[in-house]
Amino acid sequence: MALLEKVDKNIEARAWQGEIPIQSRYTCGLAGEKFFREIMENGRFAGTHCAECEYTYVPPTIYCERCFAKLDEWVEVGPEGTVQSFTVLLVAPDGTPLEEPDILALIQLDGADSVLVHRLGKVGLDELAIGMRVKAVFKPKKEREGSILDIVHFVPVNA
Ligand SMILES: [Zn+2]
Repeated sequence: MALLEKVDKNIEARAWQGEIPIQSRYTCGLAGEKFFREIMENGRFAGTHCAECEYTYVPPTIYCERCFAKLDEWVEVGPEGTVQSFTVLLVAPDGTPLEEPDILALIQLDGADSVLVHRLGKVGLDELAIGMRVKAVFKPKKEREGSILDIVHFVPVNA
């Protein structure tokens, strides 16, 4: 294959087989640090608010995505919220069927304008609805490690 020849299929590209040992560390950033620390230490949700846009970000950001202002106004939101969308997973990423459906949802916590992605639990498929009210269920404090998985799932408010 000539150097300037166009490759239409990636399997036609010249390749060398091998492994590259790479280690990396991805930080959750200033806003993520506070977000996860609030969950871990206090079982609360922290968001940032842009007064100019009247918009509250959860998960928080340190810059407004709309007007690019630096955000340093923190607000507490949730722990209850509203399901804005959801999807029901019936197979695992490897294609094997799941014993129980896994429900992922976009949850708008009370006081937030953006949404958080997380699992729904203790809800029948026939109960699922956009607009349903849910609340966060956190792991016991001593089991939390500063991760989004410190939230077990969200369940219906009346569960
Ligand atoms: Zn803004």
